[in-house]
Amino acid sequence: ETKARGKGGCTAFESEMDARYRERQKLKSDLREALGAGALQVAYQPMFLPDGSRVACCEALARWTHPERGPVPPSVFIQLAEEMGLVTDVTRFVLRQACSDCLTWPAELSVSVNLSVLDLRTEIVDVVAEILEQTGLNPARLHLEVTESCLMDEPVKVQAVLQELRERGITIAIDDFGTGYSSLSYLDALPVDVIKIDRSFVRNIRKDSRRFKVLLGAVALARSLGLKVVIEGVETVDQLQLLSEHGCADLIQGFVFSAPMPGSAVAALCQKRARKRSAQTSRTLIA
Ligand code: C2E
Ligand code: MG
Ligand code: MG
Ligand code: MG
Repeated sequence: ETKARGKGGCTAFESEMDARYRERQKLKSDLREALGAGALQVAYQPMFLPDGSRVACCEALARWTHPERGPVPPSVFIQLAEEMGLVTDVTRFVLRQACSDCLTWPAELSVSVNLSVLDLRTEIVDVVAEILEQTGLNPARLHLEVTESCLMDEPVKVQAVLQELRERGITIAIDDFGTGYSSLSYLDALPVDVIKIDRSFVRNIRKDSRRFKVLLGAVALARSLGLKVVIEGVETVDQLQLLSEHGCADLIQGFVFSAPMPGSAVAALCQKRARKRSAQTSRTLIA
């Protein structure tokens, strides 16, 4: 009897593993199909000046709505695409869409696209150059984000790729700064222009004063190296106020100002902010 139970438990475990494996394989083949059909979408999350008066840049975020499951988070499908060797197809798709959408926005707006570490092992410079040429977007309006851990993957080669992209006029940002491994020792040598401080530093800034000090230190260090600072994941007015009091960021990205939105909504958002600015200016003039 004991033996039978043991055997039964084992089988249940195995069949659960099987089911998970099959589910993943199904998701992978669905993703392959979606990519082939150009069925991914791109949402854009604006980055604002800290006073909220202006949008400077929008981050392109890949979206996949599965026909049966609904939205699949990018944290899931980007990893699947990486495992399938298809992530550069995702990158190409997002880049092309982002560059053409950016052309429909006010000229002072840039667009920022995330790269996978695997992109940096491909001919990504040629891919980017080709898409810029095809769409006609000024390279000065394109930003590319790489995570800190990407920089540790074959550092010499990665740095050469980033340097080449910069020489073409593209801005390079380190994403999720503070979550990878010790960039402090080589931050001065990296060919980057912007650091995006990870939202884990912001979540608890009122209560966790030690972590807030780490954030302040990272900001000061980045600034002293001539880098621009974006703070991600700012959700509340209170967080925004504290960051502003300390002059922490050049740009703020987070739900406090805006969630990701369709590309077609970006121009309207900019117009709304511009109207607000001119209303404020006329109030100041009258006063
Ligand atoms: P990320 O590049 O750090 O993008 C920011 C993520 O934080 C987005 O999640 C965004 O919706 C979310 N976010 C923005 N503001 C807030 C906030 O105030 N609070 C909270 N809690 N979250 C906020 P999303 O769109 O789910 O993307 C997750 C990650 O997936 C991205 O992190 C990025 O690493 C990756 N990803 C998304 N699109 C692409 C892509 O096209 N290519 C690659 N390689 N990776 C992508
Ligand atoms: Mg990003
Ligand atoms: Mg980020
Ligand atoms: Mg992040």
